Amino acid sequence: MSPATTVGVLGEGEEAVRKMVEGKPLDDERIVCEDRGAVRHGDKGGYLPLESFELDLPYLESIFPQHPAYHGEFIGIQTKRGCPYDCQFCEYPYIEGKKVRYRPATAVVNELEQFYRRWGARRFWFTDAQFFTGKESFPQCIDLMEQIIDRRLEIEWSGYIRTSLINPQLAGLMVRSGLGDLEVSITSGSQAVINSLHMGFSLEKLYDGCRYLKEAGFQGKLILNYSLNSPGDSEAGLMDSVESYKKIAAIMGEAQVFPMLFFLGVQPHTGFEQRLLDEGYLFQGYNPLSMNPLAIRKMLYNPKPLSSMIAKACIAAWDKAAWVAAAGRGTSVAQLYADESMFAGVVEQSGKAALINLEGILKERLQDEPVSPAR
Ligand code: SF4
Repeated sequence: MSPATTVGVLGEGEEAVRKMVEGKPLDDERIVCEDRGAVRHGDKGGYLPLESFELDLPYLESIFPQHPAYHGEFIGIQTKRGCPYDCQFCEYPYIEGKKVRYRPATAVVNELEQFYRRWGARRFWFTDAQFFTGKESFPQCIDLMEQIIDRRLEIEWSGYIRTSLINPQLAGLMVRSGLGDLEVSITSGSQAVINSLHMGFSLEKLYDGCRYLKEAGFQGKLILNYSLNSPGDSEAGLMDSVESYKKIAAIMGEAQVFPMLFFLGVQPHTGFEQRLLDEGYLFQGYNPLSMNPLAIRKMLYNPKPLSSMIAKACIAAWDKAAWVAAAGRGTSVAQLYADESMFAGVVEQSGKAALINLEGILKERLQDEPVSPAR
C-alpha cells in the first residue's frame, strides 16, 4: 500500500511517520486510510519497545525554531506506554495496548533535565495513560522520583495517578520530588458504579491514598473528577458521590479539594460503546465523529431521569460562577468556553456548589421515596 493523502495512525506513530516521510509502504504499520474509495487498515502486529527512546533537544530546537514559546509551559514527558486496566469507557488500552512498556528512569530524568537546563522549564506533565499502572510499575516510578530528588531538580510535576495505589513511601517521594496539583478520577462515590465500569479500584483505597498524601505534606490542589450519571448510577449513587467529596474534603481540607463534574464520553472500541450498542442507545454504523449537535449531545452520556436533577444543580451553581468569570475577563457569558468553565470550577468552586445543590435536591426526593439499590 502506498501512502495515501490522509493517513490515520492508531497509537504510536514514530515508525509510521518516518516511513511516510521516506515514501515507504505502510502495510505493516497500524494505520487507516482511504485507498481507491475503500477503507484500508495496516497491521503492525506489535508495539514499539521504549528502552532506547532518547530525546535530542538540540536537534529538536534546530527543526522547531518556535520552541521558546513553550519554555514556560508544562512540558509533556512519557515514562511508559500501555495500561492494564479495563475501565469500560477508556480507549487507552486499545490505543497503547494492555501490556505496559517502560522507559528506563534514567532516560526519563535525562530528558527532563535537558528541558530544565536548556529551557529553564520547571513544570512537567508525565503523559502516561497512568503513572502508576500497578505494583509492577513501582520500581520505575520510585527510581524516577528518587533521581529527581538526587539531582536537585526543583520542579513541579503531575500526571494521571491512581490514588488508590499510593502508599506512604510513594506519597513521601511524590511530595519531595515536586508533585503539583493532582487530578483524581474518582468517577463516582458508589462502589457499585465503579465496579460496573470495571475500574478496578476500591474507594477505601482511594481515600487511603489521599490520607497518605496529606500526611506526606501535599500542598497542591486535588481536583476530583466525577462522571455523574454513569451506567448503573441512581439517586442513592449520586448521594454517595456527594458523600465521597465530603469525605475527601475532610481528609485533605476543604480548601484543597475541587470537585469537577463531567459526563462519560462515548469512545469507539470500548466496552462502554458496546454496552450502549447492545442496549439500543447507539445504533450500528453511527458516526462517532459526527458534528451534528444532537449526535454530539448523545455522545456525552447523561440520560434521563437523573439528567434533569443534575442539570438543575449545575445551572444553579454555574450560572453565578459563569457571570463572575465573564465579568472578570470582560467577556459575555455566551463567550465562555470549556477552559473558562474549568477555571470557574477551580477558582469559584462551582463543582462543589453543584454537588451541594444536588444533595439538596436529592434529600428532598429521598425523604419521600425508598432508596434505590445502587450501593
Ligand atoms: S481510565 Fe486510566 S486506568 Fe482506566 S483504562 Fe484508561 S488509562 Fe487505564
